[in-house]
Amino acid sequence: MSELNLILLGPPGAGKGTQAERLREDFSLPLISTGDILRSQVEEGSELGKEAKRFMDAGELVPDEVIVGMITGRIDGGDARDGFLLDGFPRNIKQADALGEALSALQRRLTSALLIEVPDDALVERLAGRRVCVKNPSHIYHVKFDPPKHEDVCDQDGSRLIQRDDDREETIRRRLEVYHSQTEPLIDYYNRAGLLRRFDGRRNADEVHTHIRATIATVRLEESL
Ligand SMILES: [Zn+2]
Repeated sequence: MSELNLILLGPPGAGKGTQAERLREDFSLPLISTGDILRSQVEEGSELGKEAKRFMDAGELVPDEVIVGMITGRIDGGDARDGFLLDGFPRNIKQADALGEALSALQRRLTSALLIEVPDDALVERLAGRRVCVKNPSHIYHVKFDPPKHEDVCDQDGSRLIQRDDDREETIRRRLEVYHSQTEPLIDYYNRAGLLRRFDGRRNADEVHTHIRATIATVRLEESL
């Protein structure tokens, strides 16, 4: 079986996390995210972890070189030998170039960049309608898609429901602006390389998952011909 080296792209709220979990199970791929890898390297106290910590302690962004070093170290061998699923990396063209170079140095290449697309207005509706229980944050409702029986009251324990600051429309629109300015160039980049695969994130999670699996099967079939 050929390697499956995948990256996941998509706006906040598009359901990337759900799809990543499912693909990880389907194909036994390690799921690698920048946040997790930063945390684990800082905890381990690796050289790159120590370097990253210096920037974090100073309240600065960890530079691309450090992040790239961590990610490329992570995909070299071990459980990522037969493939990986990257979430949240690359974030810009410079990181994408570095990933491409690191893979060719290992005589590997990217299989596909999977893009889950959802229009901004649909994301705002999805996220801004979310209400969370003040007592237990795992009790989550949606004013339109999954409303509680009584407005602003948790069905399970009668507590008050609130909208988190992260779910406010202005906050969501700001995050989407950042997403578009960072990620649109990457979409072009992978599209030109013939690696981009698009998925309609307005569909439900099962349909998106089925479509992604079918696409991966086709890509693998084409590779084996
Ligand atoms: Zn509750």
